[in-house]
Amino acid sequence: MSRKCVVIVGGGPAGLYVAWRLAESGHKVELVERREFLGGLCASPERGGNAYGYGFHGLHAADPAFVAQFHELMGKRWRESEPRARVRIRTRFHDCPVGGWEFMCSMNPLVAAVCGAGLAGARFARPFRRGAPANAEQALIRRYGRPLYRAVFRDDTSRFWGVHPSRLSATLVQGCMPPLEAAGCCEKATGRPGRRARPVKGRLPATGLAKLYCAPGGMGEICEAMARRVREAGGRIHTGTRVTRVRLEFGSVRAVVVQPAAGGVEVPCDLLVWTGPLGELAEGMHPGAPPQVVGAARALKFRALISVALLVRKEQVFDSVLTYCHGRSFYRVAEPKHCGVDVTPPGCTALLADVSCAPDETSWEKPWSIARRVAADLEADGSIRADEIREIYTFRARHAYPVYTLGFEQRCETVQAYLDPIPNLLRVGRQATFSFMSASAAMQSAWAAVSTWLQGRCQAGKVSGVGW
Ligand SMILES: Cc1cc2nc3c(=O)[nH]c(=O)nc-3n(C[C@H](O)[C@H](O)[C@H](O)COP(=O)(O)OP(=O)(O)OC[C@H]3O[C@@H](n4cnc5c(N)ncnc54)[C@H](O)[C@@H]3O)c2cc1C
Repeated sequence: MSRKCVVIVGGGPAGLYVAWRLAESGHKVELVERREFLGGLCASPERGGNAYGYGFHGLHAADPAFVAQFHELMGKRWRESEPRARVRIRTRFHDCPVGGWEFMCSMNPLVAAVCGAGLAGARFARPFRRGAPANAEQALIRRYGRPLYRAVFRDDTSRFWGVHPSRLSATLVQGCMPPLEAAGCCEKATGRPGRRARPVKGRLPATGLAKLYCAPGGMGEICEAMARRVREAGGRIHTGTRVTRVRLEFGSVRAVVVQPAAGGVEVPCDLLVWTGPLGELAEGMHPGAPPQVVGAARALKFRALISVALLVRKEQVFDSVLTYCHGRSFYRVAEPKHCGVDVTPPGCTALLADVSCAPDETSWEKPWSIARRVAADLEADGSIRADEIREIYTFRARHAYPVYTLGFEQRCETVQAYLDPIPNLLRVGRQATFSFMSASAAMQSAWAAVSTWLQGRCQAGKVSGVGW
């Protein structure tokens, strides 16, 4: 196989993994990351000697050969743990997914009876329904009945996505969105009261996967280790730079323009691997993409994430790595110590509470107001006391969750129809496929696309693969 010159846009797990594999196979690799640090959403920014992050991240994969690569990469810094998750309903904690009896007991008996009847009705009506649900609201009602929708899903979904479920696509419900994970629990719970629900295979909270992997410095340490291997193999990594233009010639990518540099530096490439947002890619094409493509790509919006990190003077706050919460300022809180992430000084633990928001909301500009609310909620729940909080930080990620608004499928198709015929452009990873894939899925699917391309079987990146 001849040596190819590959430009990779984005230093998240997908970009780094592809860069690592390519560099070790002898290809010329130029990785461009816009931020000053690597890891993308899986980065572990350090504050006061501790590794925090954009929500908690651990590696989980079913493929033993894939996991073994990382074990070899990390050596003694490799940590394995049980991926335990809990749901807090009112004042009680339940293993995830929640068992039927526990769930029913946690509800007001009258509400539980009405929700149970609604769910039974929805199930009964299912075979008689015609046509697909028009939006997420209809899909939720069809699946769980109106009372349960009103009691649980309407407000939680609206709060998480910032729009009413009637303005979201039904694909969101059919896929496996993390905030709707509780839906599976409720269905099992209300459907089989008195019995313990079986784990939902392949999903982190309910995991079904045997292990969660991490490093003492968080998932960011694993990303840094990949970057080290890229450099050792001769690949080049540029941080604090970004690709602003993709120059096409005869329908193929000829070069990319990388900034900052006066006017940008043009880097020729045989293959461009794009892991950034689709909107930026469509806008950066030269000659320009048709206006309807740019418009469709721009309309594919992401929900942002504010992660509030607290260093708490306490050995341990929760007994699981993830705790999902209902009706709080945050939708889940993680305690990374349970996955082998180091915390200093001794006797302290770190918490990471995740809050979704829009980049145009005041909370995005003033994350401290969110931090105060998170701390107040944790105190009100009795999880921590104010005098136990030693340090508090906030971390923001603009492209955390693709928002499946009504009509996003057609917009994806419009963008796909324009980009896919470009033979040496691969869109991989979470942002460029507008999907909810995990880090391991992002890495594995990215490498599968690149290796297929190298073998001469060109395969354009697929837009919109739903699923965790
Ligand atoms: C709260 C939360 C928790 C999660 N927890 C887990 C978990 O525990 N386990 C798991 O496996 N997955 C988890 N995920 C999913 C995981 O974060 C993603 O699957 C993974 O980060 C995807 O990697 P990526 O490389 O595709 O994208 P990203 O991590 O988003 O990286 C993309 C990179 O591209 C850069 N970039 C974008 N545009 C440009 C440009 N024009 N020029 C240069 N650089 C650019 C960005 O700065 C970024 O660094 C979680 C996600 C969230 C939101």
